[in-house]
Amino acid sequence: MSSIRYRTGLAVLAALSLAFGVSYFRAIGSKCSTQPAKRFEKTVKAMDTFVTVSVSGVDETAATVATDAAFAEVKRLEARLSRFEPDSDISMINSASPGEAVKVSPASFAVLREAARISELSGGAFDVTVGPLVALWRKAGKTGVLPSEEDIDAAREKVSFKNLSLDANSNTVTPLREGIIVDLGAIAKGFVAERAAAVLCRRGISSGFVDAGGDIVFIGSNVDGRPWRTGIEDPRKPGTVADTIYVQSRAVVTSGNYRRFCIIDGKRYSHVIDPRTGRPAVGPAGVTVIARGGATADAWATALSVLGKDGCDAARADGVEFLMYFVKDGEINRLESEGFAAFRKEGSNDGR
Ligand code: ADP
Ligand code: MG
Repeated sequence: MSSIRYRTGLAVLAALSLAFGVSYFRAIGSKCSTQPAKRFEKTVKAMDTFVTVSVSGVDETAATVATDAAFAEVKRLEARLSRFEPDSDISMINSASPGEAVKVSPASFAVLREAARISELSGGAFDVTVGPLVALWRKAGKTGVLPSEEDIDAAREKVSFKNLSLDANSNTVTPLREGIIVDLGAIAKGFVAERAAAVLCRRGISSGFVDAGGDIVFIGSNVDGRPWRTGIEDPRKPGTVADTIYVQSRAVVTSGNYRRFCIIDGKRYSHVIDPRTGRPAVGPAGVTVIARGGATADAWATALSVLGKDGCDAARADGVEFLMYFVKDGEINRLESEGFAAFRKEGSNDGR
């Protein structure tokens, strides 16, 4: 008999006080200072996960105003990007006929353009038109029955970012064939975290972060002036930390096959699909990417989950830093970009 298990959760553990399950707003006082520096945090369920906004260095009123604005942005973007909202830009694209130009919001256009850019750079390993394959493997996870070769081929036929034509002059997106399903699951959280962080910055916040289900965009440094300390989860023992990094003004995103996966006939399948084979990726157990933008970091984390070491050159050329975990016989083998080492030392990344 086949067993099926689905799990969801955090991939990156911010070594900060994150809370889940409730929407709340709270102040966290610092221990030593004549003027106590406070951190204000609020967590809300959104984007099919929990989103935390944390701000420091301002008073409670300013923190509330900025945090509310950031969450309004999260909600606004979610309504545009969700595949499950019938009026979203993505649903409009998915229900359009081939050749029909769909006018989308500037934000949706921006995320699709970044998605296309990473698709190109990753040779199609990252591809938001992966929807038909995601649906096929999701069904397999639920029923416990592997899809047939024919089903995989039929779904794979429909998958290619080249089947989405983007026109920046008119902000339109045109599907070029029947059966396209856009799924932003591998880029939307990072993008939304980036945009919500930008809202905080515009409201005068110079220290804080937005964490969208483990995809974190850090603003500036910690309120005490030190870099943000973040733990990267051990893929062998989710909930424990394998590496610690220190960042300022960066996005940190982890994609791993140890939190979200399904088991069919005792075999574990990643929720990341290799669009080239039409099958779940068999790449590294975990990939952490540090980049300037959340969308870029999120997309590369998924692309490298597919490509493994074959993606190193392309990721490096795009200026992102990465750490991959390969687990063999209970041991972690690490593969990291040259620049990643600088983030292991507190104070060596100045945030520029
Ligand atoms: P998580 O959502 O756990 O942070 P990812 O960012 O890697 O993980 O996104 C995985 C999701 O993206 C899948 O659940 C699916 O919806 C979609 N997806 C799967 N494979 C790909 C791929 N090769 N390219 C783009 N999106 C993908
Ligand atoms: Mg991703």
